[in-house]
Amino acid sequence: MSFHIMYDHQCKNCEAYYIPYDEDVVCPNCGAHEEEVADNIVSTLVSSANYQKKMFGIYTPIAWWIGSLGDHIALLIFQCLDAYEAQAEKNFTEFAQIYFDKAKWGNQLYMKSNVYGLTCKVFEVLDSKKSV
Ligand SMILES: [Zn+2]
Repeated sequence: MSFHIMYDHQCKNCEAYYIPYDEDVVCPNCGAHEEEVADNIVSTLVSSANYQKKMFGIYTPIAWWIGSLGDHIALLIFQCLDAYEAQAEKNFTEFAQIYFDKAKWGNQLYMKSNVYGLTCKVFEVLDSKKSV
């Protein structure tokens, strides 16, 4: 059992897939600003990450059925979080930047900045809860 991220979104202008996780997030492909904001996505991702970590000791689920854009992006985020914990040199934002630069995006390279921004948000929340 795991927490899935049931969320799908496509830009109304260019049909690019991305997650408007904050009010100021624009389409990473065409720059359009849409009204939809996925308010709960960061807290949902944090809950899912915490659940995985508690149950299995790592963020990345062993079996993860991808049923939505949210699931797809969640997997990228969890893998990045695990890769980050396996090293101790860089701070997170620097690490994530390099990590996603190296990732394979195929024809969805535009997603990189969106996934990177969302990953940093999730990390911030995870990190702030750790130190309390
Ligand atoms: Zn667009």
